[in-house]
Amino acid sequence: MEAEILEKSYDPKKVEEKWYKIWEERGYFEPTYDENKPKFSIVIPPPNVTGALHIGHALNNTLQDVLVRYKRMDGYDTLWVPGTDHAGIATQNVVEKEIAKEGLTRYDLGRNSFLEKVWEWKATYGGKIISQLKKLGASCSWAYERFTMDEGLSRAVREVFVRLWEEGLIYRGDYIINWCPRCETALADLEVEFESIAGKLWYIKYPLEDGSKYIMVATTRPETMLGDTAVAVHPEDKRYKALIGKNIKLPLIGRIIPLIADKIVDPEFGTGAVKVTPAHDFADFEIAKKHGLPFVKVIDEKGKMTEEAGKYAGLDRFEARKRVVEDLKREGLLEKEEDYQLILGHCYRCNTIIEPLLSKQWFVSTKPLAQPAISAVEYGFIKFIPENWVNLYFDWMRNIRDWCISRQIWWGHRIPVWYCNSCGETVVSREENVEICPFCGSKELKRDEDVLDTWFSSALWPFSTLGWPEKTEALKTFYPTSVLVTSFDIIFFWVARMIMMGIHFTGQIPFKNVYIHALVRDEKGQKMSKSRGNVIDPIEMIEKYGTDALRFTLVALAAQGRDIKLSEARIEGFRHFINKIWNAARFVLMNLKDYIPDREELNFKELPLFSKWILSELHRTIKITREKLEEFEFDQAAMQVYHFFWDKFCDWYLEISKIYLKDPNYRKSTQKVLLEVLKNSLKLLHPFIPFITEEIWQYLPEKETEHIIVAKYPLFEEKFVDESAEKWVRVLQELTVGIRSIKAEYNLTSKTDLSVIFRGLDKEILDFIKSQKEPIKFLAKISDIELRSNYEKKKGEVSVVLQEGEIFINLEGLIDVEKEIKRLEKEKEKIEKKIAQIEKKLEDKDFLEKAPREIVEKEKNSYSELKERLDKIVHYLSELK
Ligand SMILES: [Zn+2]
Ligand SMILES: [Zn+2]
Repeated sequence: MEAEILEKSYDPKKVEEKWYKIWEERGYFEPTYDENKPKFSIVIPPPNVTGALHIGHALNNTLQDVLVRYKRMDGYDTLWVPGTDHAGIATQNVVEKEIAKEGLTRYDLGRNSFLEKVWEWKATYGGKIISQLKKLGASCSWAYERFTMDEGLSRAVREVFVRLWEEGLIYRGDYIINWCPRCETALADLEVEFESIAGKLWYIKYPLEDGSKYIMVATTRPETMLGDTAVAVHPEDKRYKALIGKNIKLPLIGRIIPLIADKIVDPEFGTGAVKVTPAHDFADFEIAKKHGLPFVKVIDEKGKMTEEAGKYAGLDRFEARKRVVEDLKREGLLEKEEDYQLILGHCYRCNTIIEPLLSKQWFVSTKPLAQPAISAVEYGFIKFIPENWVNLYFDWMRNIRDWCISRQIWWGHRIPVWYCNSCGETVVSREENVEICPFCGSKELKRDEDVLDTWFSSALWPFSTLGWPEKTEALKTFYPTSVLVTSFDIIFFWVARMIMMGIHFTGQIPFKNVYIHALVRDEKGQKMSKSRGNVIDPIEMIEKYGTDALRFTLVALAAQGRDIKLSEARIEGFRHFINKIWNAARFVLMNLKDYIPDREELNFKELPLFSKWILSELHRTIKITREKLEEFEFDQAAMQVYHFFWDKFCDWYLEISKIYLKDPNYRKSTQKVLLEVLKNSLKLLHPFIPFITEEIWQYLPEKETEHIIVAKYPLFEEKFVDESAEKWVRVLQELTVGIRSIKAEYNLTSKTDLSVIFRGLDKEILDFIKSQKEPIKFLAKISDIELRSNYEKKKGEVSVVLQEGEIFINLEGLIDVEKEIKRLEKEKEKIEKKIAQIEKKLEDKDFLEKAPREIVEKEKNSYSELKERLDKIVHYLSELK
């Protein structure tokens, strides 16, 4: 069979879409449930349905795909569950913005019509990120695609809610939320817009109960003092230490409140004493919970003062403020007022100043769930990679607070709770809808208005996607999953909650490994953001450089525990590698035109030196690449193959193969080795760069599977490791590089009729070089090499000292020695000047402290480069003189 030849250059656009379609059609991405195969499974961190693929997704999904493709090739039955998250508030906001263009709010439409609009929006635009994942080459098991609000997952959510309720782990309690008194609605944090406002700071005297002295507090909202239930100071604050535990008589209203100590109080701020208003301030709410203080609500849902506000009841909150200040002044309790710039939350819809308000919310008691989740990590059932992330995890989990799971929005899983107007009972149900009260038979049921926090359904993702609570085949086969690949910012929101819920509801951990990858930043290490204008769009990069170049760059930079500094130039750089692979494959295939595949094994002993060597290096690469992939050292795995392919296969073996191929004794075995190494390199590279490897695979004259995606990942075979071949090739390389460097120094690269003298003391070396004269002459492009055990350098000769001996080249007649000396001296002067300049900079403390780290690094690098160059010049000058 005559091998087909690759086109001259690689065009990703021509192959990427084609291959993805074929892989998908052949069902390669789907699990086979083959009992003989070990299992490997991943659930995707579901991107928001509103999302478009950003560079962080590209990294996250490339890493998952590398693992899945590697395991699939390594004989595992693989499942990679894809899907999207309904992203409660984010999606609702997008649709609200849409209808705002028609001048409508969600209240104008009403709950049901609004939700219809959201579903419509999802059907039209929600698939964008999925198609982008396909463009990235993600080999997800699409038959298992899920959406957090699809029927099955919604059922799992209700089941979990009801079980937690039945176990007493879900309760309804007071919680402080953002409230718009004009719209009369709760606002999510995202719906609050912060503005800087010119306000005032009032200093108020709070007398001690015994009348001995008073404590000064400062506030920007004096009307809330009516709801104070304590004053707090820092426990170490000398001004107040002796007073902690005493009581205060709250001005105007006469309530007796304690003076408490809490480290959260900043003694440097204001007077160091702060009023605590648990019902109307977020921080105070937390302090009150911790200290068991009462909650006194003095402002109501309309922004008016309540009965608790005594004589101020019924006043608007701002009118009450004026009256409170006047009254304090009259009683001599107002020390002073100052102008003060403050940041206030406003309603994103009507711009009214929001009021933090106490309201009824739903909670999960997390302490009983957290303990087993802590143990699972302590005992090593779940591993974090890199390991140091466990500290953050333990820190969160050991100080866990109850989880507020209700949200006052419409888009999401509606809380499965109904309130009976007749008997007052709370009905919690697995049913989608409840119409009759199971306690009294009444039809007077009102469903809870709230929906669940988006993270509630995400917490169930590893088992709900596999069909839980049904005991499905998928769940039995692929749960617990093998690894979760995610970023550190959601360790608590998501990872910890999946571990808690997974253990609680399935009795098993949800995943065995948690791989935490870095953030992708710009080349200077800054966060990418639209406002900075430094965002790199993965889709744009794919269009420009091809998917493989983008993927390889991301993986090559994904070192554990270090942020990725990405620039377009990096992607462009790795595109050269993609092209290099193409060109190398083209060279190999051109030389296989007359190759007839046979089943004969290579006779290793009879191979020429470099063939033994490249096979040895190949198998070392296989071993290390596998190890690095198993350890989630993605960058090292990728760079291992990169350096093997480029530095060893292309730079040396492809070169030397040119003379081996001409030798009838070696031609056939060299063809075999070329094919063997190319084929294995493609397989090693496939998980990283799936498209080009699949395309080249098709042209190989001998392959065990139709498609590389299901070919066997190369196995390390000890028998190919040949330390002697490695040692001798190192000698030849050193020799060749030495000769090349002299030729380069004197502009003699194109000269091929040079003769070289090699002086070696070791007979073994001399004999070896003698036997390798032809390869040396070819690689170093010289006409002859003379071997000596004894030699004295002559005038007009330059030399390079190697580990195994010394090389001499006579330059007489080739160069003008005097001119050359002048040239080198000039260069020496120039370099010395530059070195002096950098030295001055590096001694300048000011520069070292103020200059960005990259700049300092750069200076240091060029310093050592210049030093090296200077050494060489000094050496050559001494030789020529
Ligand atoms: Zn409003
Ligand atoms: Zn009832």
